[in-house]
Amino acid sequence: MDFSTSSPKIQHFLVIEDELGKRTVPLIDSTCSLGRDPSNSIVIKSPSVSRQHALLMRVTKPDIDSHLFRLIDGNLQGKRSMNGLTVNGQKCTTHDLNHGDEVMFGQEVRARYYMTNNIADVHFLESCESDEVTGFLSNLHNPMQSQTPPSEVLAHSNEAAIVRLASFPELFTNPIIESNLNGKITYLNPAAVAQFPQLREMQTDHPIMAGVTTLIGQEDEKNFAREVEIGSQIFEQSVHYIAESDLIRTYIVDITKRKRMEAALKDSERRFKAIFNQTFQFSGLLNPDGILLEANQTALEFGGLHLDDVINTPLWETRWWSKSAETQSRLKNAVIEAAWGKFVRYEVDILGAEDKVATIDFSLKPVHDEVDNVVLLIFEGRDISDHKQVESDLQRAHSELEQRVQQRTVELKQSNEHLRSEIVERQRAEAALQSSVATNRALINAMPDWMFRFSADGIFVNYKDAPNTKLPLPSEAFLGKSLYDVFPKATAQPFMECIEKTLDRHEMQLFEYQFDAEGNSFVFEARFAVSAENEVMAVIRDITERKRAEDDIRNALNKERELNELKSRFVAMTSHEFRTPLATILSSAELLEHYGHKWDETRKLKHLSQIQQSVDHMTGLLNDVLLLGKAESGNLAFNPVPMQLTEFCTGLAEELQITTQTHEIVCRLQEQLTEVQMDEKLLRHIFTNLLSNAIKYSPQGGIINFDLVFESDEAILKVQDHGLGIPPSECSHVFNSFNRATNVGNISGTGLGLAIVKRSVDLHGGEITLTSQETVGTIFTVRLPIYK
Ligand code: ATP
Ligand code: MG
Repeated sequence: MDFSTSSPKIQHFLVIEDELGKRTVPLIDSTCSLGRDPSNSIVIKSPSVSRQHALLMRVTKPDIDSHLFRLIDGNLQGKRSMNGLTVNGQKCTTHDLNHGDEVMFGQEVRARYYMTNNIADVHFLESCESDEVTGFLSNLHNPMQSQTPPSEVLAHSNEAAIVRLASFPELFTNPIIESNLNGKITYLNPAAVAQFPQLREMQTDHPIMAGVTTLIGQEDEKNFAREVEIGSQIFEQSVHYIAESDLIRTYIVDITKRKRMEAALKDSERRFKAIFNQTFQFSGLLNPDGILLEANQTALEFGGLHLDDVINTPLWETRWWSKSAETQSRLKNAVIEAAWGKFVRYEVDILGAEDKVATIDFSLKPVHDEVDNVVLLIFEGRDISDHKQVESDLQRAHSELEQRVQQRTVELKQSNEHLRSEIVERQRAEAALQSSVATNRALINAMPDWMFRFSADGIFVNYKDAPNTKLPLPSEAFLGKSLYDVFPKATAQPFMECIEKTLDRHEMQLFEYQFDAEGNSFVFEARFAVSAENEVMAVIRDITERKRAEDDIRNALNKERELNELKSRFVAMTSHEFRTPLATILSSAELLEHYGHKWDETRKLKHLSQIQQSVDHMTGLLNDVLLLGKAESGNLAFNPVPMQLTEFCTGLAEELQITTQTHEIVCRLQEQLTEVQMDEKLLRHIFTNLLSNAIKYSPQGGIINFDLVFESDEAILKVQDHGLGIPPSECSHVFNSFNRATNVGNISGTGLGLAIVKRSVDLHGGEITLTSQETVGTIFTVRLPIYK
């Protein structure tokens, strides 16, 4: 590299600081004088400076075709200055200036000498302090090795060349940092100082130096490059290890702008591509006759064509338009229109390679010259096949929807007609209603009912009297009052429930209740219906009479039914129970008739007594029937008289004991201490029957218990056997007349006994119960009040 070639660009400056201030003076002339006198080429204002203090002479160095400035004390006439010169602290009379030299004119005026190709650098260097300049200079052979001259050149080069070279790092606008292997900064060029003001203080903690020593320790190459981001800035840092001096030198370039530019470029490229892809994919140029001049790559690729294939061909004759004669003639017309200056745009299906079809939004744009003639047509086509698909989907969805809407409209129309006829119907009904309001009013007035209006919470709001009747209560006794104030709770509650139900279900509710007033009991029937919002109308009718009549009828009916049952049971019983004795009587009578004359008296008497027994039995039956009939019709007499119940029971037990040999009646009868009033006749019916049943229904014999105990106001009698028992389901029926249990077998009976017992106990105001278990036995318990 020839350094001398760059010398003309190098300029020389003197930065002088005196009473006038600090200024930079370029050294242009070959000789210039410096001093206090205004005639000097460089005037220095200071009392310690002589009138003609010094001279600066340009000295040319022929070997390197360069020059330097020599400073000489005194004037042209050789007269020395008063206070002399000091260069870099050394008194001297002459000195060849080196870059960075500090010159003192007298005691106060300081000047510094610079050589550079850029005046800004002078200012920059003036403004920053570079302490380490000397340190840097010692490593002179290394910075930017490519620019380092071969040692041979270096040896021959003069001082100025070395100075110039040395000034490089100082003038370099990019930061240069030098550190030792421990990371301690040994040199910063002015640019580094300006760029990283904190670096001196932070040392290896500064991001630009972070990790540098470690990386150098690892790297085999001993130099590397990296990008460092500090705040919003991005730096490219190249790091070199200088083995000779054990120093690390790093060069830094601020690449923030470049990076940003790159990013912006990429971004705009992407945007451009996006826009391009979105917009016209298919384009080209035609002349006004429709002859193709240009087609873009997309168009050509789609058609599988080269520009050469189609250039100078009418567009309609190209493959793209070969789809149909119709598309071709349409394009021809479009070209004519566009040639007339019109912007034409329409959709067309074009044909591509392998018979691909694309729908494009095609346009022809005329380009005019200065005199408004159409000279070119730009054609553009955007592929809208996808849109077409979406559009046809939409179309289909739309038509489906339309169909549904139509269907719905028809339905609506139908239901409207229905509604209309309903309205007509209702109007007719309303008219009918109107006309019948008067009739209704008359009807209501004629109704034998009270009408009450109740609020939802059961308050009497209003009422209408039934004609010709009076309410059992004066109106002030109930109007404005609650149901609970007027009726007892037992009536008010169901009444209230009816009101609630009516409002809830909007259905008519019916309710009957009893009401007692002035010592009379009334029965009312209330019908509930909703009369207004939150209001119920109750139509109340006095049904006391009807109820009474109903009850009478019901009773009569029950009686009749019972009698009917009785009658049928009586017929069934008599047909069976009377037949046996009648048969006996008949046969005995016949025998007597035919053989009486032959028989002796004993035999005759035997048959006669058989007839008498049968008649007695039948009489007994008839008596029972009559007795029951009396009891049923309420004609059975009850005549209680003071009596000895214990004695009576003892006698009865004895009477019945005679009728059986297989049974033993065991009496446990309590002594009677107080007076007892009872009907002996009825008592006989009761206990004869119970005891005879006990005997009859324990055919195997055994003990029969007959107990009597007295309590404070009643006598409790028990008859217990150990016989057949009664099936559980039949126990409740045994007191009904003509009713017999199913387990009686051929034990005879009419089923009247217990019916008579029951009536007799009832007449005493007592009560009869039974407990029985089949095959184990039966206990009848009779409780009779002592006084009646
Ligand atoms: P009657 O007493 O009129 O001669 P009966 O004895 O059959 O005929 P009730 O005395 O009324 O009629 O008894 C009704 C029925 O009750 C009897 O037919 C029998 O089935 C049943 N019954 C009554 N007492 C007993 C008993 N001690 N053990 C078992 N069954 C009995
Ligand atoms: Mg009986």
